[in-house]
Amino acid sequence: AYKRVHNFNPGPSVLPVPVLEQAQAEMLDYQGTGMSVMEMSHRSKEFETIIQTAEADLRELLGIPQNYKVMFLQGGASLQFAMVAMNLRAAGASADYIITGAWSRTAFKEAQKLGNTRVVFNGESENFTRLPEDAEMSFDPNAAYVHFCHNETIHGVEFKREPVVPEGVPLVCDMSSDFLSQPIDVSKYGVIYAGAQKNAGPAGVTIVIVREDLLARVPEKLPVMLDYKVLAESGSLHNTPPCYAIYITGLVLKWLKGLGGLTKMYEINRQKADMVYKVIDESGGFYRGHARPEARSIMNIPFRLPNEQLEDTFVKEAKKADLIGLKGHRSVGGLRASLYNALPLESAQALVEFMKDFQQRYG
Ligand code: PMP
Repeated sequence: AYKRVHNFNPGPSVLPVPVLEQAQAEMLDYQGTGMSVMEMSHRSKEFETIIQTAEADLRELLGIPQNYKVMFLQGGASLQFAMVAMNLRAAGASADYIITGAWSRTAFKEAQKLGNTRVVFNGESENFTRLPEDAEMSFDPNAAYVHFCHNETIHGVEFKREPVVPEGVPLVCDMSSDFLSQPIDVSKYGVIYAGAQKNAGPAGVTIVIVREDLLARVPEKLPVMLDYKVLAESGSLHNTPPCYAIYITGLVLKWLKGLGGLTKMYEINRQKADMVYKVIDESGGFYRGHARPEARSIMNIPFRLPNEQLEDTFVKEAKKADLIGLKGHRSVGGLRASLYNALPLESAQALVEFMKDFQQRYG
């Protein structure tokens, strides 16, 4: 017997119980091999099946077209901030960045160290509470790419559709914190990357989806572990990949398929987020959401209470009620509820009940 808490951690975060149970059942003897996936050669038939099945399931769930490569890499989404620039922006070329929160700002700063970069929108002066309108951004028609972050994990703003960019300029997207939370038209993107540790699996693996023609841009003589071409052509097996993280990610993908895929997942995510936003909106100002309503994320909901002391009390009392991980990021303050795919509806319900009760007692 074990106890599970209501886990609102921003990442690493909650995983589906059936996934953990299967991993547990297969821990000592993975499918008759007499070893765990951790102990297995990455060149073995068994692991080949694990990584190929994970890729096939990912392709099916997201509808990834044939002309895209899928890579399972290390270094986190943070390494992709640099790799995107190193691989796709030729010497002398420039890339455009949309800055809607802390993560796209960090992506921009990394790219800036390595070459020419332009900012086409920066929401910082408004404390990253909104998304840009297409009309406010003026893109470089010759940009190597336009980079944006689909969902800002800290500021809780999430794109509802892709920004409209000049024809022929590839969109590069950090999808770390809402990857697999909803259907996406992959064909609109040049590159999508995401650290697994929110919706897709444990920390340690980063998924990168890249349109094949862009690999022609990869410069000669990049260090191999930073070279998309080498990594894509080796099927993520140039060196030892993060085998166990890929295995767990594979189990999460099976779980998602069993649930009914991304359309169904989105419905559930929508429902969970709507419940929490409703309490915020009906609190008469006791709870204040950070993001403007039209920019609100379905994954991460940062919000404030009337004062910091109440916010501390909220976190402490929530913890006693087994509601974990609700403290906001230090840069925004307050609270943040992360409602990733694997967070059960009941946990969102428990949070909503707690919030209402808390307001009654302290409001
Ligand atoms: N981008 C986003 C949107 C994130 O939420 C995070 C991590 N919270 C990162 C990038 C950095 O990811 P990693 O820790 O995997 O490098």
